[in-house]
Amino acid sequence: MASLFTRMLSGHHTAVALASLGVGTLASGYLLTDNGNAAAAERRKLYPPSADFPDLRKHNNCMASCLTPAIYSKLRDKLTPNNWSLDQCIQTGVDNPGHPFIKTVGMVAGDEESYEVFGDLFNPVIKDRHNGYDPQNMKHPTDLDSSKIKNGMFDEKYVLSSRVRTGRSIRGLSLPPACTRSERREVERVAVQALSGLKGDLAGRYYSLGDMTDKEQQNLIDDHFLFDKPVSPLLTCAFMARDWPDARGIWHNNEKTFLIWINEEDHTRVISMEKGGNMKRVFERFCRGLKEVERLIQERGWEFMWNEHLGYILTCPSNLGTGLRAGVHVRLPNLSKDPRFPKILDAMRLQKRGTGGVDTAATGDTFDLSNNDRLGKSEVELVQCLIDGVNYLIDCEKKLEKGQNIHVPAPVSQFSK
Ligand code: ADP
Ligand code: MG
Repeated sequence: MASLFTRMLSGHHTAVALASLGVGTLASGYLLTDNGNAAAAERRKLYPPSADFPDLRKHNNCMASCLTPAIYSKLRDKLTPNNWSLDQCIQTGVDNPGHPFIKTVGMVAGDEESYEVFGDLFNPVIKDRHNGYDPQNMKHPTDLDSSKIKNGMFDEKYVLSSRVRTGRSIRGLSLPPACTRSERREVERVAVQALSGLKGDLAGRYYSLGDMTDKEQQNLIDDHFLFDKPVSPLLTCAFMARDWPDARGIWHNNEKTFLIWINEEDHTRVISMEKGGNMKRVFERFCRGLKEVERLIQERGWEFMWNEHLGYILTCPSNLGTGLRAGVHVRLPNLSKDPRFPKILDAMRLQKRGTGGVDTAATGDTFDLSNNDRLGKSEVELVQCLIDGVNYLIDCEKKLEKGQNIHVPAPVSQFSK
């Protein structure tokens, strides 16, 4: 993998780093983290790594499956240039042996460099989570040409809403688990300034969580527009709820069909959504809006974290690559009671969630179904995979309504051909 440090010294990045330091607040934030971590590092060295190895015997997450005493020994005392440690990356996976509805990754990155400095653990975890994708030798494709999408209009008798989201991180600033308050506020400032340049149907405004009433916040959450308060231990044990709600908020256009979350799990989450089944239109707006957001960010001298092996760099390794989750809320009263339902989801590489989000159980016969993969396939391929999968499921539902037989399809391929 091309060294991130080498790239950090390249012209553009140096300019970004200097511009960041120019605002004056970041330097003191780094120093505070530095002192705390340096002291912790010194204390750790009093004991051998074997004495610090976490007890993972009851765990079921990717980190726990991949972390060996040898890898831990090699990495325990390393720090990223922002002073982020392996123990900080894995804390969430140590504290949360499992999750009731999904297999979690069990570790997060504190900064872009975490993926390189702790690559001996991140690489196998990425390989495990992303079905064998080898981050050292494979290259990740990007394709945001929505005109390639086929059959993107779902039967609205079954599909209630359509949504596509991704995340983007701003190079040079620590990620949500590790950022200082000043860095977090800098992310908000950079993003909100850039977003004010959106025009036409994308034009809108920013709503800071701190300025909203509890009721306004709850209404946005209930309407599925806003992230929930971070009560999930997966988030709190990854240090992502610190200082809540400081520098968090939501930007959205007037129709609430193009939304950007600021400083939740990622620096930014970019979302296109609407009621009904027009996934092609949702993806078209997603691609157009995302390209425009990137242009506006770059115009101000910043850029997104990206490399050719990992694609877009995000906090959770599960989101690397495209960061894309294209999903629908879909009603499947017959199929969801059929024992073949989970097998069909697996074969079509789809993930099932409750309609209230990742931490909610599926209730009744309506589900959030989305692409399971993020890395190794392009945005266009993943959205097409979701579309083909959901159309197949609706077809099965119609067959069951008529008392006809259904079958589990052959598994779809996991990587770009
Ligand atoms: P994400 O992966 O984007 O973080 P979550 O599972 O955490 O998604 O859910 C975030 C919010 O988005 C929740 O309120 C959820 O109900 C809403 N949501 C997700 N998919 C859809 C969809 N297809 N239609 C409407 N709302 C959705
Ligand atoms: Mg979420």
